[in-house]
This record gives sequence, structure tokens and C-alpha cells, in this order.
Amino acid sequence: MAQTPNVIGLAVMQRLKETGAPATPENYERTYYELSGLPPPEKPAPATEPSPWCLELLAMVREMVTQISDQTETLAKDLGEKNRDLAGNVQSLKTSRDKHEILRLLSTVVMQAGGIQNTVEASHRELLETRRSLSAMQAELAETRQMLNEDALTGALNRRGLDQTLEREVARAQRNQTRFSLAMLDLDHFKKLNDTHGHEAGDRMLVHFAALIKSVLRKSDAFVRYGGEEFTVLLPDTDARGAMFVLGRLQQLMAKTPLMHEGRPITATFSAGIATLRAEENGHALLRRADEALYQAKNGGRNLIKIAG
Ligand code: GH3
Ligand code: MG
Ligand code: MG
Repeated sequence: MAQTPNVIGLAVMQRLKETGAPATPENYERTYYELSGLPPPEKPAPATEPSPWCLELLAMVREMVTQISDQTETLAKDLGEKNRDLAGNVQSLKTSRDKHEILRLLSTVVMQAGGIQNTVEASHRELLETRRSLSAMQAELAETRQMLNEDALTGALNRRGLDQTLEREVARAQRNQTRFSLAMLDLDHFKKLNDTHGHEAGDRMLVHFAALIKSVLRKSDAFVRYGGEEFTVLLPDTDARGAMFVLGRLQQLMAKTPLMHEGRPITATFSAGIATLRAEENGHALLRRADEALYQAKNGGRNLIKIAG
């Protein structure tokens, strides 16, 4: 038969596995000669001298062990103890000259390799499960934020939050016949800020701006991240003059409180449009008027606050 001992050896292990026969030296030897078609030796080799058969087997084992070590190299640390046992037995295999000892060690090594494989598979499964539950948690968190109508970066209300809050506040103002003002704010030349200082600095400026907006508002006011660098401020019980006062304070604060980024101060300005609720007006129309006033502020040269007509 033209097959190499390695191939025969692997076939023997496969056959033993298939037939469920234990990997005892006797079973291995019998199957080896059955599959190889080689005549079994007349007399058993002396225990102290390695027979050619043993050397062939040893070559096969070495190859298997190399394969196993390669596969488990990265996991060697985690699998420390198991690997040490395996390495010990492999070492003994290399030095052993006794056929029975070699076969005993071989079945142990095969068993230990199987154990390592199981551990690897279990770790892999655990990792996959951990990853799955992590992404489920992230999704849950994002959903919770959505449910709380909150913008993840600035902590302002998100667009969905605006719809609900605006509707509620407009209805309240109409019902109680109180003043209600709304302002649209947009950072000036924000694209340039991103280009000059980087997107991370841009993000930090958004957080900084949101914190300053919050600091000038009353508890009953609300602010929303309307879009990228655009915010909406809702001011119940406030007329246009009151709104102008609040935004003027914000303008001063922005001028004297630069964002410190990588040791350097970055200043930014904003433009704003204010609209005060008219009788019979709905939230959508109010928002549109504030937006038009913002557009005028931009057109007027920026860093301006305009009141809608
Ligand atoms: P204008 O004064 O006319 O408002 O000019 P602008 O550059 O501020 O306005 P433009 O609409 O041209 O660009 C807005 C920029 O805002 C572009 C976009 O990259 C940036 N932006 C939007 N959202 C974010 C964000 O979440 N983080 C950062 N860093 N940048 C953002
Ligand atoms: Mg802008
Ligand atoms: Mg904008």
C-alpha cells in the first residue's frame, strides 16, 4: 500500500472512533495492520528498542501535536493547565522508546486535545453569547434614550421629544392665554470649526453649547437638538423681549466661555430667530416663523438674534 504512515495513522484513529473501539495499544496495532495491508511482525519488538512501527507512529503524533499547538496557540494562555498537561505528555512521547507507553501516551494526548477543543468551542460560544447580550444591551439603551426622547450627545430633547413638548406647551399657552416663545439657534460656520479643529472638537463644542443653553434656561423651559448644530428653545410664560434677554445672555456667555480643546481655546457664535405664539397659531407655524427669523439673522451677517415679524 502506497500510503504514508501518517495517513494510515489518522485513518486508524478515525476507524477506532467510528467503531467505538477504545484506543488501546492492541486495538491500534490490529487496526493499523488491517488498514495498511502490511504483514504484522512475527515477534513483538523488544520493549526497549523502538520498532520502525513506533517511529512511524511517533512521526504522526508529532504532526498532530504541531497542528494542535498551532490551532491552540492563541488560546494557550487561557487554557494554561490543559496545555501544560498536553505538553508534558508530548514531551514524554518524544523521549519514550516503549511501544505500549507510546500508545498509552497517544490516547491520552488525543483525549487531552479533544478536551482542549471542547474548551475552545465553549469559550467561543461564551464569547458569542457575551457579544450578543452586549449588543442587545446597547440596542436597549438606545431605545430607552429614544423613549426618553433624549439626544445621546448633548442630553437635550431629541426631535421626537420636540413634537410632544411643543404640542403640549402650545395647547397649555392657548388654554391659559399665556405668552409662549420659541427660538431656533444655529451655530455659525460650524463646518469650518469641524474642518479646522476636527470632528471631535465639533462634538465637544455641541456639548459645550448645550450646557451653556441649559445654564441660561429656567426649569420650566425646554431645549431640543433639532438637527446637527441646530437647537430649539421653548420658553413658556415668556414674550419676545424676555426671549431676547435670555438669548442675549447666552450670546455673552458664549463669547466669554471658550471651549478648551487640546490646550487651546475655541470660540463659536450662534445665530437665532425668535417667534412668539399668536392666537390660533399651531406649533408647526410658530416653528416656521422662528426659522425664517433665523434665516434673516444668518443673512444679516451671523452672530445675530432676530425677532420674527
Ligand atoms: P452657517 O453659519 O450657515 O450655519 O454655516 P455652518 O457651517 O454652521 O452650516 P452648514 O449647514 O453648512 O454645516 C453644518 C455642519 O455641521 C456640517 C456638519 O458636518 C456639522 N455637523 C452636524 N452634526 C454634527 C455633529 O453631530 N458633530 C459634529 N462634529 N459636526 C456636526
Ligand atoms: Mg450652522
Ligand atoms: Mg445648520
